[in-house]
Amino acid sequence: MTQIPHFIAGTRVPGESGRFGEVYNPVQGTVAAQVPLATADEVERAVTSAQEAFPVWSALNPQRRGRLLLKWVDRINENADELAELLSNEHGKTLEDARGDIQRGVEVVEFAAGAPHLLKGEFSANAGTGIDVHSVRQPLGVVAGITPFNFPAMIPLWKTGIALAAGNTFVLKPSERDPSVPVRLTELAVEAGMPEGVLNVVHGDKTAVDALIEDPRVKAMGFVGSSPIAQSIYVAAAQHNKRAQCFGGAKNHMVIMPDADLEQAADALMGAAYGSAGERCMAVSVAVPVGEATADRLVDLLRERIDQLTLGPSLDPASDFGPVVGPDAKERIERYIGIGEQEGATLLVDGRGAEVAGHPDGFWVGATLFDHVTPDMQIYKDEIFGPVLCVVRAEDYEEALRLPSEHEYGNGVAIFTRDGDTARDFTSRVDVGMVGVNVPIPVPIAYYTFGGWKASGFGDLNQHGTDGLKFYTKTKTVTTRWPSGAKEGSSFVMPAGS
Ligand code: NAD
Repeated sequence: MTQIPHFIAGTRVPGESGRFGEVYNPVQGTVAAQVPLATADEVERAVTSAQEAFPVWSALNPQRRGRLLLKWVDRINENADELAELLSNEHGKTLEDARGDIQRGVEVVEFAAGAPHLLKGEFSANAGTGIDVHSVRQPLGVVAGITPFNFPAMIPLWKTGIALAAGNTFVLKPSERDPSVPVRLTELAVEAGMPEGVLNVVHGDKTAVDALIEDPRVKAMGFVGSSPIAQSIYVAAAQHNKRAQCFGGAKNHMVIMPDADLEQAADALMGAAYGSAGERCMAVSVAVPVGEATADRLVDLLRERIDQLTLGPSLDPASDFGPVVGPDAKERIERYIGIGEQEGATLLVDGRGAEVAGHPDGFWVGATLFDHVTPDMQIYKDEIFGPVLCVVRAEDYEEALRLPSEHEYGNGVAIFTRDGDTARDFTSRVDVGMVGVNVPIPVPIAYYTFGGWKASGFGDLNQHGTDGLKFYTKTKTVTTRWPSGAKEGSSFVMPAGS
């Protein structure tokens, strides 16, 4: 059985714990590899490697670090086909989608290469008589990233690109479900010239994460995953005096106004709800048509389109989406479909029992559509994280606005309308972090910041964009006076600003 290695101090390192996680090929439904689950000692070695690399890496001027990041981007692009296939085979998303996963990560590394500009501090001349004040942004030291299974390239690249550009060194603990791509990305960084130990990967579970939290040399925890774990890591990091940004789950709504182009809205919903088998934190899992006529028409259009969908192997270009990541995910999603039925929602299309010829054991869940879902139902409240779309019918705009605003999660939301005034009011008042207007999945581009509100994000700074640079640096403020000579003598008075 293939064993996926850790990557510490510039080289592949086999696991020593004797504990393993299973990495599936979700199309075949078989275990394709084992991933070692690190001991605290193995994590300690990765942190030591990053700690030893820090003085040289942080002293390199930011432009040189930026150049190295761009060489890394070149290596990633040269190997994009291999990476995408590796990603599809472990995650289950289609090859085209896997390429997008890599591309959206690379864009953040490209942004981070602008670190010389982004790290500039502030300067005030003559803040007091003969006194100048300036601030610089300095790296934190060793930082750690804990990432989820659903974007095994993009999210590790979001975190490492920015942190490394700012002069930190990194220990990445990627998802144990699809760990090969993060290891390969790290190897490509070393091939591009990244010094040994600057970027390390350890695989593992809670034991590894706890070891990172408890190690005082680790100065920051960047987490992305489900909300309960995000919250627990946020709290534990604070208890260990380290900064944390922890992004959680989602229940993203799409409001469809009566004036919207319904064909366009239905097309958008299909990709947003079922693309990547719904395993995206920005997937739309709730459609909110406003008015009965809008709802009836929308549901008809969705059913027509679901009939045309192709569920199939990840590497088959004809597939619209592939299997879900593992047997536990399939079981959870199918259980939620059963719960929805019991709760009285109308199950219009049932994805349970979906089959794909030639792959009888794959983790298939077909597109599922519920109508007449109400806010008190568990299928509305919980993140299902699968290809399940719930239609909640709203009587009017105000009710539609309240639904995402009052939901526990607040990651993404979209409104489809032709009316600028409605869109403007919605974007201003909705209590959600990322908003799309006629854009179903409003993932901000690299030079803006990404982050949800409420239970979708714990911490005050978003990922990537300028917030990312702030998170991975600390501000030092320097007050300077160059004495003009002995004639002024000593001062025993607290200096005032003016
Ligand atoms: P997960 O919470 O199960 O795992 C995320 C990471 O935490 C993994 O590296 C995992 O090994 C680690 N982990 C798991 N249990 C742990 C524990 N008890 N203690 C410490 N670490 C632990 O999430 P997942 O299933 O990999 O990913 C899907 C979730 O991630 C969904 O909820 C999705 O919405 C969310 N997500 C959020 C964003 C965002 O930006 N908000 C982006 C992508 C995914």
